[in-house]
This record gives sequence, structure tokens and C-alpha cells, in this order.
Amino acid sequence: MSKKTVAQIIPSQKINMGGHLLEQPLPNAFMQQLDPFLLIHHAEWTFAGNQRQQEVGIGGHPHRGFSPVTFVFKGEVRHQDSFGHDAVVGAGGTQWMHAGKGIVHSERPSKELAEKGGEQEIIQFWVNTPAKYKMERPYYLPLSVEDTPKIEGKGYELQIVAGDYDGNVGPAKTFSPMTLLRGQINAHQTLEINLPANYNTLLYLLDGQLEVNGRSAERKDLVWFANDGESLNLKASVDTRFIVLSGEPIGEKVSSYGPFVMNTQTEIMEALRDSQMGKMGVLIESFD
Ligand code: MN
Repeated sequence: MSKKTVAQIIPSQKINMGGHLLEQPLPNAFMQQLDPFLLIHHAEWTFAGNQRQQEVGIGGHPHRGFSPVTFVFKGEVRHQDSFGHDAVVGAGGTQWMHAGKGIVHSERPSKELAEKGGEQEIIQFWVNTPAKYKMERPYYLPLSVEDTPKIEGKGYELQIVAGDYDGNVGPAKTFSPMTLLRGQINAHQTLEINLPANYNTLLYLLDGQLEVNGRSAERKDLVWFANDGESLNLKASVDTRFIVLSGEPIGEKVSSYGPFVMNTQTEIMEALRDSQMGKMGVLIESFD
């Protein structure tokens, strides 16, 4: 297998999203998106405790036309939506949703995290959907760590969330071919990851430090690969956690506004109208 050349290593930027501080590796100064990946946010929050669940996290908001996906690393994330889904996912798990024609959801810490306090670490990324599937019925899938196939090797561990990888099939349903991995590698260990050459590929380091295909990447760096080979050769300097997002480009025009990702400006206007008319459903959250 020939190596994918590292096209660029891009440090993430700190942003303030409505009072929530987080790291944003994508979009960045060099790329608006890397088709089919539209956005990556990495958040590490500490909840002080003695709060009610409804006072923390992100309340009801709509989405249409893509999949917002949350990998949970620490703490729990509770999802409720206008189609009646309600589930809590803990460390090692994934909140997977395809917004399709429209859904309203909330994303909050668990009741226990709100009341007792503690850390939450998540990565949320947005995966685009080909035009012909954007108006499908919304789809929601909570995945626990046990639901997610895992490969364990010498000094490393890889979870396969979506796509085929080394004989394992990730449980998340995608609308275009992709492989989504979460991994950790111990200091001084090596790991080779093979992906199709034509897949657009990003690796993000939550922490640690790696040498990847001969280049050095630090914590909170986004590594962007050229489409000229198959393999990522990782060598960790210290214990490192990372994710790999790799997918076949969809190759369609993207028109996005806030929580909607469509192909044209007209479709964005329709999304705004449908959302205001309540066509994405009504979320009435429940709290005990
Ligand atoms: Mn959301």
C-alpha cells in the first residue's frame, strides 16, 4: 500500500458558539469543507453540578439535509427529538442522526452530570448527504461502546463507527461510502490504517502527538491527506486519541445556513419556512 501524502496540518481554532467554548478544526482558513465532511467541533466542558438538566446543554433546534454525529469521549450526552427518540449515550458511544427532511432535537448532558457535575468531552461532526437522500425520513441511532466493533492490536485500539474496515462493519447507516474511526494509540507504538485512495481523508488528534506519514502532528491538529495513496502510518510519541473521517466525495454544490445543509439557496429558504411552520415537528422535552 502506498502512503497518502499529508497535504496540510491545520491547528484547530477556539470559537465561542453561543456561550459554549470549543475547538473548531473544520471549517478552517484553508477549507470550507472537505466533501462530504462539513464541520468538526471538539468540546471539553466541565459541569459544576447542582443544576437541573433543562438548564444545561443545547435545547431544541432543527436540522435538515445532513447527519450531525456526536462521538462521546467523557460524560454522557442525552438526545431527545421531535420524532419521540430519547436516549443517553456514554463514553465510547455515538449519537448518530440523519436529519433528513427535518427534525428538532436537544443535546444535553445526562441528569446525573447536570446534578452531580463532572467532565464531558465530545466531538460533533457534520456529514453531508447526497441530494437524492436529503429529504428522507429522519433516522436516529444511539450507539453504545458495546454496539461499536473494535479492533485491538499491540498498543492500539480502533472503533469502527461506519463503513467496512478490516473485516468489521460499522453499525451507522450512511448515504455515501465512508469509513469513520475512533482510535487510541499508546506512546511509541505504530499503526497502519488503510483507506481507499479516492476517499477524502482527515485525521484529528484529541490529544497527544503523532508522526503520520513522516509529518509531526500535535494535539488539536487536523491532518488533511492527498488522494494519492491508501495508507496512514502512525507512530505515537505519547499516548494519543484520534478520529479518522474518510469518505467518497459527493461532488454536489453545497448551500448551507445555520442548521440546514442543502444544495441551493431556494432549498434553504424552504427549510427556514418549513421549520417556522412546524413541519420539522415539535420537541417537548421530558425531564424527571
Ligand atoms: Mn444539533
